[in-house]
Amino acid sequence: MRLSKMHLRTLREVPNEAEIPSHILLLRTGMIRKLVSGVYGFMPLGWRSVRKIEEIIREEMDRAGGQEIHMSAVQPAELWQESGRWFAYGPELWRLKDRNGRDFCLGPTHEEIFTDIIRSDVSSYRQLPVNLYQIQTKYRDEARPRFGLMRSREFIMKDAYSFDRDQEGLDKSYQEMYDTYERIFTRCGLTFRPVEADTGAIGGSNSHEFTALSEVGESEIAYCEACDMAATVERAACVDAPATEEAELPREEVHTPGTKTIEEVADFLGIPQTKTMKALLFVTYDEEGKENGYVAAFVRGDRELNMTKLVNALGIPEHSIEFADEEKMGAATGCVGGFTGPVGLHDCTIVADSELPGLKNLCAGACKVDYHMKNVNYGRDYKADIVTDIKTLKEGDPCPVCGAPVKHARGIEVGQVFKLGTKYSESMGAIYKDENQKDQLIVMGCYGIGVTRTLAAIVEQHHDENGIIWPVSVAPYHAIITVMKPEDEVQAQTAERIYKELMDAGVEVLLDDRKERPGVKFKDADLLGIPVRLTVGRGAPEGKIEYKLRRDAEKEELSVDEGIARAI
Ligand code: ATP
Ligand code: MG
Ligand code: MG
Ligand code: MG
Repeated sequence: MRLSKMHLRTLREVPNEAEIPSHILLLRTGMIRKLVSGVYGFMPLGWRSVRKIEEIIREEMDRAGGQEIHMSAVQPAELWQESGRWFAYGPELWRLKDRNGRDFCLGPTHEEIFTDIIRSDVSSYRQLPVNLYQIQTKYRDEARPRFGLMRSREFIMKDAYSFDRDQEGLDKSYQEMYDTYERIFTRCGLTFRPVEADTGAIGGSNSHEFTALSEVGESEIAYCEACDMAATVERAACVDAPATEEAELPREEVHTPGTKTIEEVADFLGIPQTKTMKALLFVTYDEEGKENGYVAAFVRGDRELNMTKLVNALGIPEHSIEFADEEKMGAATGCVGGFTGPVGLHDCTIVADSELPGLKNLCAGACKVDYHMKNVNYGRDYKADIVTDIKTLKEGDPCPVCGAPVKHARGIEVGQVFKLGTKYSESMGAIYKDENQKDQLIVMGCYGIGVTRTLAAIVEQHHDENGIIWPVSVAPYHAIITVMKPEDEVQAQTAERIYKELMDAGVEVLLDDRKERPGVKFKDADLLGIPVRLTVGRGAPEGKIEYKLRRDAEKEELSVDEGIARAI
């Protein structure tokens, strides 16, 4: 490509709204273009790098047996209602109506859609396992879109879903995706760490986030150098939390007059308090086992926390919440409280003082003034749907696995793998017949990579004060030929020859033949971060050119042929 013909507009100035290097540089190089807050377009160079990342992902996903499909971003509300997420997903879900008033959303993720495909296409164990993926545009109406591609409202994601016969199959699929992710991010030139991530009530090492290390990252991870513990700070706070051996006791409603705080309630009931502080959200069920609302609780009365904060943290759409009045919220308002979905307040089921789901015989508000429940047990009395840790593991805290002081690092979540189990196959009825013609639930996993966020993370890790320094694997072009004086016959001819030979050899090459001062061209070449620069200047009559790698300071004088050979 000739720069004289390329649609390229680089900026000298740092754009006002950009605070972090990747955002600044992607705008300055003209690779991305902002449309509105959190919505970006890609210009020629930017789009080439996006496609490079996508190709790496495709190659590695295909190698792992993934099959690419492409589903619409437009999703009917009915499928989300079936899974229960239409209500639970929150204001991030970009909802819309068609002209007849039918509800839709722009997909923030595609579990429902893929589960729907599989439940209609798969009937026998012989058709499993299967792994389907797509590379597609996602929509999330983020509360605070920022940092350019890092947290945008429209972004490209690779999302994959595995469908297995049983847990053992899922474990295998999960490991395969985990390994695939390591290969993908390595090929993208990222320094990253897979860390255990919170999975809500499911617990265990059922999810990992792939975190590209970076000071500007929004994720905080805790890791231990003495053992291999590495987790998000929230997850680390409950890694390997010991389960108790206690037996489940019968549930009891207790009169707890005058208790206002969780400490007072615990004191009154003689319940020891754990060090953990969690906010919990539970789905409540009616007698027939149908969901009929949500109940929240938090443990050890954090005065800073209130219901509104909790609701915001959990991303529940405000319109779907009806706060229970103080009367009904139980005695310990402010520490334990309840609110409901559209159906009405359930009459118990608020749990406190827990390290879910290992601990037994917990305390709960009874949604009745001056009463609490004693001996509430996970599974028997309530089911947990979403669990958000409020406690985090701080730098220097003892590692929960080996006791050594933990370290902290910041990073960018570029991908996540998750063992879903039967969450969606249960709610949406995805079943197959096993060898004995018996119905079984399909066991699922899901695996996401933020393609455009990965692009930003790469820039974050590969730049200097002059611009981007692309790893070759994702560089928009491999080499740039800078002609000092394009009007000079010898220089022009030499440059054309190099340009042609490199293209013939399959090198993706830019020819800077613009009528600009050399200083401008060098600045642009550095800004754009093309890995190899060949400069054709005064040495051209003697057949000499200058060879320089973007990442090195040194230049070398080489013969034209040597220069070409090195660039190939
Ligand atoms: P975050 O914690 O940053 O909000 P997430 O956990 O909500 O991300 P996932 O649902 O795990 O995101 O989606 C899979 C991947 O999609 C993420 O690992 C990330 O790389 C990417 N991603 C998620 N949200 C955004 C966004 N707003 N902009 C760009 N990429 C995103
Ligand atoms: Mg998010
Ligand atoms: Mg996340
Ligand atoms: Mg995630």
